Amino acid sequence: MSLTLKGHAVAPGIAIGRVHLAERNELEIGEYRISEADVENEIQRYRNAVDAARDQLNELADKIHPDVAVPAVEIIQSHVLMMGDSKIRESTEIHIREELCNAEWALQSQLEQVLSEFRSMDDEYIRTRGEDVTQVVRLIQSKLSAETANKPFENIPDRLADTLVIAKELTPGELALLHERGVAGIVTEHGGPHSHTAILASSLGIPAVLGVREARRLLREDSTIIVDGGLGAVFADPDSARLQRYQEIQREAERFRLSLIALRDRPAVSLDGVEISLQANAERPAELIQSVEVGSQGIGLYRTEFLYLQGRPPDEESQLEEYLSAIQTLAGKPLTIRTLDLGADKSTGVLDFSQLRRSVNPALGLRAIRLCLSDTALFKTQLRAILRASHAGPVRCLIPMVTSVREVQLVKELVEEAKQDLDKRKLPYDANIPLGAMIEVPAAALSLGDLGRYLDFVSIGTNDLLQYTLAVDRGDEQVAHLYDLQHPGVVRLIKHILKVARTLEIPASVCGEVAGESRYTQLLLALGLKEFSMHPARLLEVKQVVRKTNISAAKVAINQWLDDPGGQDDPTLLEILDRSQINP
Ligand code: PEP
Ligand code: MG
Repeated sequence: MSLTLKGHAVAPGIAIGRVHLAERNELEIGEYRISEADVENEIQRYRNAVDAARDQLNELADKIHPDVAVPAVEIIQSHVLMMGDSKIRESTEIHIREELCNAEWALQSQLEQVLSEFRSMDDEYIRTRGEDVTQVVRLIQSKLSAETANKPFENIPDRLADTLVIAKELTPGELALLHERGVAGIVTEHGGPHSHTAILASSLGIPAVLGVREARRLLREDSTIIVDGGLGAVFADPDSARLQRYQEIQREAERFRLSLIALRDRPAVSLDGVEISLQANAERPAELIQSVEVGSQGIGLYRTEFLYLQGRPPDEESQLEEYLSAIQTLAGKPLTIRTLDLGADKSTGVLDFSQLRRSVNPALGLRAIRLCLSDTALFKTQLRAILRASHAGPVRCLIPMVTSVREVQLVKELVEEAKQDLDKRKLPYDANIPLGAMIEVPAAALSLGDLGRYLDFVSIGTNDLLQYTLAVDRGDEQVAHLYDLQHPGVVRLIKHILKVARTLEIPASVCGEVAGESRYTQLLLALGLKEFSMHPARLLEVKQVVRKTNISAAKVAINQWLDDPGGQDDPTLLEILDRSQINP
């Protein structure tokens, strides 16, 4: 009999196949005493287990092709970093030494303590990171036990093609293992939509539904199921009508994927002949490679925060090395390097910017260019590295979170000083390196006529612009429904920015997430946007919409809508734009 189970929709895609119920090799953590003479051996046993766990994760990360899944590799690497976390490591060793107990038990005691600290945090995101610590500790514990050392599951076959694994819960490491064996989809009883396992499944393209209660009791080994990861539904023993419908959806998705690949070398020109520039956002080498593979016209946003999250600020040479390697990958296509944008939602990691910690409201505090102007030595180091890179290929410099003309002037003075430093050292750079600003603060948008005169280009950071215009925290799920590009205030503001940029004759792009969401492509084109920068994985889908859009017709429709945006019961702007394309 057919049965439908619901859970969290965390990783879209359809998987159809046979059920495999994964039995975890459960760990039994017991306590036993050791003698003083055995302490050093026990500590060594613990260290060996940490090393073995780390090796396992590193091996998994290496097996995941970075072009496919940058976040996947990063998640696993974050678990590797946690293994080296000196707090857990040292306190576990102290516990073994002082309490004369076995390593498994010492680790368990430390875990309880760390978890109680996590549970007391207000921030839901941080609280869920407690799951990661638990998973890392479990892996080390499994390495301490001979039975579970190399087998997280009791009965997982080597090949999992057409197989859907049903588990109580899965760690990112376990999921990576299943991926390696070709798993078609996963269902778990535990695990939230923000868990790393969820993010990992999505970035690996594994259809997944998490948090399905009693899944292991309700689903039978070897029975046929459909997992609809976008809907968060699992259909057990589907009837033939449902099965056929889902098989057709799967075939259609494959046809769509192939049609996008065929678009790679086609121009991004609209139906009415407007040429559009499609660029990519990047942070890591894998995204740079991917951007070249999908035929992007360059990098419109190269985020550099990752360089600063490694423990100490990077020096000029190590930054230069990163930029040069990006330039080499791009082989002549432009690279837009954004200067440091730490603060607010971007974790300060292990760097001690003590000023940042004092902000009561970090999104309105000392972030991005404000931070850089308060630490000019740090900022100038980056400017020098960017300038030096500009000698090797086409480089633009982009400043985040600009609010006022004064800030732009200060930045220009510092760029001049950085140039003079390089002159003294006889190091070459592009003297005309274009300087641009992210427009993400409403005041900057409204005074672009003044600001823009000092700039060579602008890039609209819609992620933050929407947050500040709508007073909606970009990371707060509770108000996510209010974060809306179709709000007339936002639409008017973006239209205004693009109009002023045209008058000033400076290029303007959008590099926030909406640039890569194909449902918004017509809206942005209708507002006059000609340059998009987005995650490379989105580029071909956006290109497809560009090639099917009549921009003139979309412009007429959006202008009529702006005269009277209507109310809740009227068609949405996106619907109106869709209709404008039927008989343009
Ligand atoms: C933005 O705000 O739209 C943007 C691209 O910058 P970030 O997401 O890095 O803040
Ligand atoms: Mg931003």
